[in-house]
Amino acid sequence: MRFSAREMLPCSAASRKRLAALASGEKLFHAYIFEGDRNTDKPGAAEVFAKAVHCAGPGEKPCDLCLSCAKANHGNHEDIVYLTREGNSIGVKQIEDLQMRLRGKPFASERIVAIVDEAERMTPQSQNKLLKTLEEPCGGNIVILLTSNAESLLKTIRSRCVSVRLEAAPGALSGASVTLADDFVERLFAGGAYYELSRIVGVAAERDDAEDFLNALELRLRDALVAASGGARRAESLRFIDCANEARRGLGGGLNVRYALKTMILKMLS
Ligand SMILES: [Zn+2]
Repeated sequence: MRFSAREMLPCSAASRKRLAALASGEKLFHAYIFEGDRNTDKPGAAEVFAKAVHCAGPGEKPCDLCLSCAKANHGNHEDIVYLTREGNSIGVKQIEDLQMRLRGKPFASERIVAIVDEAERMTPQSQNKLLKTLEEPCGGNIVILLTSNAESLLKTIRSRCVSVRLEAAPGALSGASVTLADDFVERLFAGGAYYELSRIVGVAAERDDAEDFLNALELRLRDALVAASGGARRAESLRFIDCANEARRGLGGGLNVRYALKTMILKMLS
């Protein structure tokens, strides 16, 4: 099961690139700690990493085109395992179940990637249990611990993991991309014309700016989705989110910035 959606800020384009590079590099480690502020979307970042590890496409990973990437995008990749707290903590039984899964064979790829959200919620007993897996990794499997405070993990756990620090996108809380996204969403729902919308996105001409804009746009559209009173508005919001997602995947896949944004607007207006 995938993590449920929470209000979080997307990781910066730089963080996501770093993860993708790490995942497609020659040396993969068997355990990582991804640390970032409470509001930083660490599950999303871990998914990018897991997707890149499993990606079967040629060239830059994740390709977002291969079967493996498609499964990961739908949250149903057989070899990406999600672990999240039950109640207030992650108990020993949950770790034992995870270990059982890690001892089995991967179904569709070479390795299993296990993502533990809010790893600081592991009880000391759970952490000690997990330590066994970190000391004696099974096959090429990878365990990723997500946390907003790595200090709260046992030192023995930390010493066995490669630490990666994640930052939220610089424009995620304030700044140009949010202002642009607000402006864009307002005009979009008001039935703005193509030229109005394209003038707004024209400011985000650089790839990184465009990625940050699309992240901010998606957050705003999700706000609109939550606030939607009627079914029509909901459906419209969902459709716009899909369009924004598609543009972001296109950019990630190397699509020309102007072309990706232009296509997104045309699809939104169609
Ligand atoms: Zn792929």
